[in-house]
Amino acid sequence: MKRQIERRVPQWSCWEGKILSRKRILVTGGAGFLGSHLCDRLIEGGAEVICLDNFFTGNKRNVAHLLSNPHFEIVRHDIVHPILVEVDQIYNFACPASPVHYQYNPVKTVKTNVMGAINMLGMAKRLRARVLQASTSEVYGDPKVHPQTESYWGHVNPIGIRSCYDEGKRIAETLMMDYHRQNGVDIRIVRIFNTYGPRMAVNDGRVVSNFIVQALRNEPITIYGEGTQTRSFCYVSDLLEGIWRLMNTEGLAGPVNIGNPNEFTIRELAELVIEMTGSRSEIVRRPLPQDDPVQRQPDISLAKAKLGWEPAVQLREGLKPTIDYFDKVLAEDAATAG
Ligand code: NAD
Ligand code: UDP
Repeated sequence: MKRQIERRVPQWSCWEGKILSRKRILVTGGAGFLGSHLCDRLIEGGAEVICLDNFFTGNKRNVAHLLSNPHFEIVRHDIVHPILVEVDQIYNFACPASPVHYQYNPVKTVKTNVMGAINMLGMAKRLRARVLQASTSEVYGDPKVHPQTESYWGHVNPIGIRSCYDEGKRIAETLMMDYHRQNGVDIRIVRIFNTYGPRMAVNDGRVVSNFIVQALRNEPITIYGEGTQTRSFCYVSDLLEGIWRLMNTEGLAGPVNIGNPNEFTIRELAELVIEMTGSRSEIVRRPLPQDDPVQRQPDISLAKAKLGWEPAVQLREGLKPTIDYFDKVLAEDAATAG
């Protein structure tokens, strides 16, 4: 008789007569900004979490507080290479998200998105695990439809300097849908719009962290272009609530926008950061990078209808803890250097 192989090893515990399942969950990119907050949230929810990261932009400091938790494990691995761990759910978050970092080694960015997605989908197929892909509003490129709905196919330059990321994420979505249609893999796709909060790296290079760090150091605030381009900024706790609901809702095997629809110009953001930090920084202009999207705002009707989700934290409210975080990190770094 063929021996049955136990592929998934769910652990069960009993509490006041209730049977509680302890799900085993893999978070790729778990030492990064979003991934580390996700690990926290999943551990708080009673999961066994395996955090996988190659530490390109992530940092052990982001998960240091979890290292002694018996339900948390960290694995140094690059998702470009296959791996097999026994899990029930996979959150595929591994990929540099800041233009500065994803353009540093664009070929590697493509490999991370394409081969990483294939490796995670292959594992999900074998384990019959559910896999959620962190996609991005960048799949809409420089959008000609505003706000962006999931049904909009986007306006993306396939050969520009942002393409390694934009097209990489579009192929990751294609792979998710094809593994779903062809092999019945249980998939979720979240299109994340600009998200900010504590644990962004000081050298991340994205606009919120750049402006806060520049303001706290009383250095010039660098606006690229006119500063009239817009983004809609989502606080990290709101984003994770939406993603958690998406992962745990049945019948949603297509892309879902998660973001905050309140739209700001980059100049408005600079002025707000200067006001909130009480900074002496001046605003300076720098050249606008190639293919920088002119406007971006999520249509979140689908998330509202299917997940009962909408963001609760507005920009001023979310900037406060983010500024406090950077203030503390800069002070610690100065103390270490001195
Ligand atoms: P981040 O750079 O802080 O985190 C990315 C993490 O992935 C880092 O820990 C990094 O070391 C790791 N990583 C990168 N390449 C890897 C590889 N080949 N193998 C293993 N680990 C690797 O960025 P983030 O803001 O936390 O973004 C997380 C995910 O969310 C990314 O997939 C990103 O594309 C997506 N996303 C983020 C935003 C946002 O506004 N934060 C917006 C859209 C999409
Ligand atoms: N930006 C800026 N100054 C900076 C960093 C970014 O003016 O120091 C602009 C950038 O050109 C873009 C917007 O801010 O128009 C958002 O940039 P970010 O890299 O945060 O995200 P993305 O362009 O990927 O949405």
